[in-house]
Amino acid sequence: MEQKGILMVLSGFSGAGKGTLVKGLIQKYDNYALSISMTTRAPREGERHGVEYFFTDKQHFEDTIKQDGLIEYASYCGNYYGTPRAYVEEQMAVGRNVILEIELQGALKIKEKFPESLLIFVTPPSAEELKRRLEKRGTESPEVIAQRLARAVEESEGIEAYDYIVVNDDLEVCIEEIHRLVDAARRAPVRRKEFISEIREELQGFAKGAK
Ligand code: 5GP
Repeated sequence: MEQKGILMVLSGFSGAGKGTLVKGLIQKYDNYALSISMTTRAPREGERHGVEYFFTDKQHFEDTIKQDGLIEYASYCGNYYGTPRAYVEEQMAVGRNVILEIELQGALKIKEKFPESLLIFVTPPSAEELKRRLEKRGTESPEVIAQRLARAVEESEGIEAYDYIVVNDDLEVCIEEIHRLVDAARRAPVRRKEFISEIREELQGFAKGAK
């Protein structure tokens, strides 16, 4: 029987390099799929609808919540962000590990709703490096950078809720580390429940037959 994919959350401070990591994972291995979130935030330069996000307005976002179309959502720096349900379910069913690149509040909701999800927190090697990366990105105003640094302080309080923390110093090394964690997580009995009950039933059948 084909194993279902796992639901994995990748969080980390804004500027930790999550986007690049996810791209790398998907390019290197074919059993990952990235969930595209819905947001009310305005697109940054170069961002396309349906690629980085599904950009929408508050009204449509709230309608989608009411229709139970999101598996989680949160408000972050004044905007809504949420994970559409359908894609996640389809991809897991065909064996792909679905990556949710979401922040702390969303991660906690996912763990509560799906206890067998895997929560990974990505961080740059130091706070100084984080600040440097945010400034280098050049897409955000100094006010937004300050807001994101303040949010990073809050998020740092939540790191212990994650299953693993990985340091994104060398991109390739970090991609491999994440892949190994996911690979190991797929072998945990909590994520092999169907396989275990199947083998147990078969064994019971043989044991009875041998009596
Ligand atoms: P950004 O505006 O930089 O694209 O994203 C801001 C934060 O929102 C990031 O920490 C990102 O991971 C998070 N985020 C993106 N999509 C979602 C989502 O669907 N749900 C939640 N809870 N957070 C999200």
